[in-house]
Amino acid sequence: MKIAIVEDEQKLASLLQDYLHKESYETVHYSDGTIALETLQSAPHDLILLDLMLPGTDGMTICRELRKTTNVPIIMMTARIEEIDRLLGLEVGADDYICKPYSPRELVARVKAVLRRTQTPQQASGSGLEILEDEAMVRLNGKTCEVTQVELGLLVTMAAHPGRIYNRQQLINRIYTDNRVVSDRTVDSHIKKLRQKLKQLNSEAEYIHSVYGIGYKFEDNQ
Ligand code: CA
Repeated sequence: MKIAIVEDEQKLASLLQDYLHKESYETVHYSDGTIALETLQSAPHDLILLDLMLPGTDGMTICRELRKTTNVPIIMMTARIEEIDRLLGLEVGADDYICKPYSPRELVARVKAVLRRTQTPQQASGSGLEILEDEAMVRLNGKTCEVTQVELGLLVTMAAHPGRIYNRQQLINRIYTDNRVVSDRTVDSHIKKLRQKLKQLNSEAEYIHSVYGIGYKFEDNQ
């Protein structure tokens, strides 16, 4: 496992490298954004830890550029909490974020979680919730349940990227194409109904998770 650390604070980068080496990860470190982008575009890595504020090219631009050609897992490291929605959204496309200041231990845990999530093939993961798009149904262990088109849209959108957090506006944009005005509460109520339906299939399982202050994510690791 080779992890790229793009971070211009030398001390922090060395500390991260130490922690990651202890967990048997290989690391490469870049302190300049422009050099990092050029190298990362041509050399494969298993995961990228990306600082937001960098000399040369900034982290957001790097992430956006990399997303044009690769699905490599990217964790953004940022002190700017107000940017998180954009970072995780479709515009930038990071897989996860960690807020500065963070503990290296916390970051290592996040790295492991993201690798676990991104390396599990979607269909083979967990208990195998199946989404039957053409029939607008969800199937689990032989049991099926009908869902509405809106519920189906929400589920398909989130399940395409397990673990990725969607805010309500992103979900609205995905499920309604006619630019209608939809309130956050409408999204919440559709999510609530969808959850109830999924509960009918498996009362123990929690597929749709609320992320406080941001939105929702799908995880199939029951
Ligand atoms: Ca920085």
